[in-house]
Amino acid sequence: MNGRNDNTGRRKPSKDYRPQWRFPFAYFLIAFALILIWQAVFSHLTVKTIPYSEFKEHLRSNEVVECRVSKDEINGKIMTRPGDGGGSDAAVQSAEGAAEENEFMFRTVRVDDPDLTKQLEESNVKYIGVKPDYLMQFLFAWILPIGLIVLLWVLISKKMGSAGQSMLSFGKSKARLVPDKSTGVVFNDVAGCDEAKYELQEVVDFLQNPNRYKSVGAKTPKGVLLVGPPGTGKTLLARAVAGEAGVPFYSLSGSDFVEMFVGVGAARVRDLFQQAKGQAPCIIFIDELDAIGRQRGVHVGAVNDEREQTLNQLLAEMDGFAANIGIILLAATNRPDVLDRALLRPGRFDRQVVVDAPDIDGREAILKVHAREKPLSDEVDLRRIAQATPGFSGADLANALNEAALLAARRHAKAISQKDLEEAVEKVVAGPERKSRRLSEQEKQRVAFHEVGHALVSAYSKGCDPVHKISIVPRGRAALGYTYQMPADNQYLLTHSELLDRIRGMLGGRAAEQTQYGEVTTGAENDLERATILARQMVCLYGMSETLGLAHGGKPNTPTFLQGDGSFYRDFSDETAREVDKEVKVILEKAYLEAKEILEQHKDQLEKVTGELLRRETLDGPAFYSLIGRQMPKEAPAAAPPIS
Ligand code: ADP
Ligand code: MG
Ligand code: ZN
Repeated sequence: MNGRNDNTGRRKPSKDYRPQWRFPFAYFLIAFALILIWQAVFSHLTVKTIPYSEFKEHLRSNEVVECRVSKDEINGKIMTRPGDGGGSDAAVQSAEGAAEENEFMFRTVRVDDPDLTKQLEESNVKYIGVKPDYLMQFLFAWILPIGLIVLLWVLISKKMGSAGQSMLSFGKSKARLVPDKSTGVVFNDVAGCDEAKYELQEVVDFLQNPNRYKSVGAKTPKGVLLVGPPGTGKTLLARAVAGEAGVPFYSLSGSDFVEMFVGVGAARVRDLFQQAKGQAPCIIFIDELDAIGRQRGVHVGAVNDEREQTLNQLLAEMDGFAANIGIILLAATNRPDVLDRALLRPGRFDRQVVVDAPDIDGREAILKVHAREKPLSDEVDLRRIAQATPGFSGADLANALNEAALLAARRHAKAISQKDLEEAVEKVVAGPERKSRRLSEQEKQRVAFHEVGHALVSAYSKGCDPVHKISIVPRGRAALGYTYQMPADNQYLLTHSELLDRIRGMLGGRAAEQTQYGEVTTGAENDLERATILARQMVCLYGMSETLGLAHGGKPNTPTFLQGDGSFYRDFSDETAREVDKEVKVILEKAYLEAKEILEQHKDQLEKVTGELLRRETLDGPAFYSLIGRQMPKEAPAAAPPIS
């Protein structure tokens, strides 16, 4: 590998650590000054330092009571008598209080004076020679103040608490350690992804019985990557694994790593693994792995440099710990396509668990999980809600249930009703009702004809999903009205004729306007866009055109697990492009003509249903089908409460 690769592990943190030292340096300067002041005060407060000449003067006038003579200092006690013209001090003292005797401790620096002992004896002073007590001096002058200052430091940093901590542990891992078994989530809280749970059950087993695997020489996987669209419960699953196994759970998100400080990211990874090794068995969970795990060498710039180093460090650490020591790395992403290939090789994230959007049974199960602590009224049919929510992720469903609870609370109800749930789903799908958007009667009529057009054409086309609801209540950003169709069951494949039926249904709105008014409006733009995309997909991706044959041309614009609008890159010559356009036009035109034909044939029904819709603003499926005298397609329940 390249040189940069080698650096990452051993890189010395340089300037990032400077803030840690600037503070103590200033602190020591202040402390030193304090010590000097202390010493000055300590020695000057009690003992008066006098010149040697003055000492001799006091000695001559017999005022020195006692003294200690050491090698370079003399100290002792002096007693001045009033009225005595001893020294300059005596003059001051006599001014203050004449009658008093004055006694003070003195100190003076010793001068080479051979006659001193003789004079001391003459004036009858008690004198002793002492060796200087360096130890005491040292203790008092240095150790005591330093001790005090250290004590002060400890008190201050305790007061500062976490702020002080973070100042000293700069660059340490930000991973939260959730203590044992406290993720509080178990597999029962996750629904609708049984395959993923089955795979992860194995991981739980590794963590609980590592020896069983060791004894037969099996290496447990080091890393498990959860991939799937947003909101399908990847994060939830990871927490559930920790909860089931009852092991510590380290959780960080990929963007935690990506910081602009060079070198800190790598330091964090190292630190994290260090911590985890002390806690094994445990789980390290890296959410949104794509934030650090992107293909290396694709981009340039400081952020990416840093990211690559972090990734390198992660790879190195993953190689560094042996299998079976009880650390399992879980990661989640919805962009497995951009991950670095080195991350996915055996010995790293060698397991991939797909957590896909739930099917109808899964959705029902998820609704049940989230309805556990919500009071539902008896008539609630969660199966029906699951039916009405194809493409919803677990997070969407949880959100819809919560919206329903809010609606129920708003009308002071004790329990959530089916109507609350349906309203909530509609709100999530189409946006909230726009009460302020008032349409004129004429516009309302046009919208009604348009929507009934969709519904009728769909009802008379075998391959279309049953009509669930027609509404001319404006919702969300753009929709003035809408026709809500929903599949009766999961459907993974669509036939050629079903696709054509769908396109016809999409063009039904436009066809109704044309049939009724002989003129069209701008209201059909979204329908046209969707129909065109579908027709283009038929021609380019599904090989469903006679003239272009089986050649596959194009690549989806959006990555696997993210929903896009279905558009794709063109991957063919200009000549083919012309052919494609021609073919798309043929498909659309044919579908449009057929839609118009259906509506001409059932013009009486078109008018009848529109009249009813204008009166009621919304029509549900059963009401619509009974108006046109047809059987509602199978599975969709017949006895839904009418929506007024
Ligand atoms: P992801 O990490 O896949 O984007 P999350 O795990 O963060 O999604 O899911 C967000 C929320 O959606 C969860 O907290 C949970 O309430 C709900 N949820 C998602 N999937 C499921 C599921 N399969 N079962 C139960 N709840 C789910
Ligand atoms: Mg997540
Ligand atoms: Zn329309």
